[in-house]
Amino acid sequence: ATFGTLSDRLTETFRNLRTKGKLSPADVDGTVREIRRALLDADVALQVVKDFTAKVRERALGDEVNKALNPAQQVVQIVNEELVAILGGEQRRLQFAKNPPTVIMLAGLQGSGKTTFAGKLARQLEKDGHTPLLVAADLQRPNAVNQLQVVAERAGAAIYAPEPGNGVGDPVQVSRAGVEYARQKQHDIVIIDTAGRLGVDAELMKQASDIRKATNPDEVLFVIDAMIGQDAVNTAKAFQDGVDFTGVVLSKLDGDARGGAALSVASVTGRPIIFASTGENLEDLEPFHPDRMASRILDLGDILTLIEQAQQAFDEEEARKVAEKFATDQFTLEDFLAQMQQLKKMGSMKKMLGMLPGMGQMKQQLDDFDEREIDRTEAIIRSMTPAERRNTKLLNGSRRARIARGSGMTVTDVNQLVNRFEQAAKMMKTVARGGTPNIPGMGAV
Ligand code: GDP
Repeated sequence: ATFGTLSDRLTETFRNLRTKGKLSPADVDGTVREIRRALLDADVALQVVKDFTAKVRERALGDEVNKALNPAQQVVQIVNEELVAILGGEQRRLQFAKNPPTVIMLAGLQGSGKTTFAGKLARQLEKDGHTPLLVAADLQRPNAVNQLQVVAERAGAAIYAPEPGNGVGDPVQVSRAGVEYARQKQHDIVIIDTAGRLGVDAELMKQASDIRKATNPDEVLFVIDAMIGQDAVNTAKAFQDGVDFTGVVLSKLDGDARGGAALSVASVTGRPIIFASTGENLEDLEPFHPDRMASRILDLGDILTLIEQAQQAFDEEEARKVAEKFATDQFTLEDFLAQMQQLKKMGSMKKMLGMLPGMGQMKQQLDDFDEREIDRTEAIIRSMTPAERRNTKLLNGSRRARIARGSGMTVTDVNQLVNRFEQAAKMMKTVARGGTPNIPGMGAV
């Protein structure tokens, strides 16, 4: 029930869809059933799963037919869009105070990764030119202050901690004094590490809530272990009701993390996930990208990218015309050039072709492909007469030499281009007639 398994599940579902020409309600129901099962296996909360699958079903059956995509691509797109929406849509960045210091308070269960995250965040903020101060307000565990000191040292960050041996201090007092200290010493950011318990309890919440009131933080970040599973919903709700938070940090995403926590927490609390903590090292911190997480869940990132690009770069009508030309032998060097330029628009051609399933046999050719070749190709084709572009049979030896001179290429270059074009036209003709997808038209995933 890891992300990987969920991905495999959905991939399998989509594979079944790929062979269908049109989506029937039965197809949609089958897909939705698979998605529901996969999400539940990944420990996504039941209510979240229900909402999610209902939306996907409704949209898939709805009349929003996207002409640029085939049915399978369309379902992929719907599932992806809904996942991204649940995960918060846009990437959300940390918010800084207009008047420093910015106060960032951390809350979460013990062992969730708060202290580790505090160090990672301090390190990253320092790299960005900030001067963060860590405040040790976890006075519950005897070792907590010491642990934060170690983390601060590793991160090279300043720390404000109560003097050892002064008995158990008051975390609210320490937090307040920490912010004051930062103001005096010109630290522009304060990161307050608060106490956690193994389970949610009223006293913990009261303390966190008091610290919040006393320090008026710009961000309250709820740190949650991505492996927490079904408990994610209850824990997140308890912290939302008890302290409320402005954002979420998903920790231990490097491990055998269940995808459920990300979806559940974001969905149930409506709060954005801001960071992904992905390891025990100080460097293992990433901004959380809803779209990337959705792609990771679907394991179809490349195909999603391709869908996006295909929609941008092609209109259906043109794709159909090109396919028609292929099939009827009317594909010319001019079309070839136009196609290459379209592909160039779609980003790296190599990458784009590599993303298409079933292009494995073209791997070697892809590896040999050089994008600058499009420019060279263009130069050669531009040096031909319109008649030659339409009919390569006109290209005799002297014409080829002339074209080579005109384009600054060698005769060998010209010969290679012509040969390659003729081969490609032949290949695409076969493909177009066989009904298998042609590359630019994206007939099927
Ligand atoms: P706190 O009690 O909330 O302050 O949690 P800690 O920061 O002490 O983390 C608890 C344990 O989880 C420690 O052993 C950390 O090394 C480990 N840990 C924290 N963050 C991560 C993470 O992103 N990935 C992994 N693999 N381990 C983590």
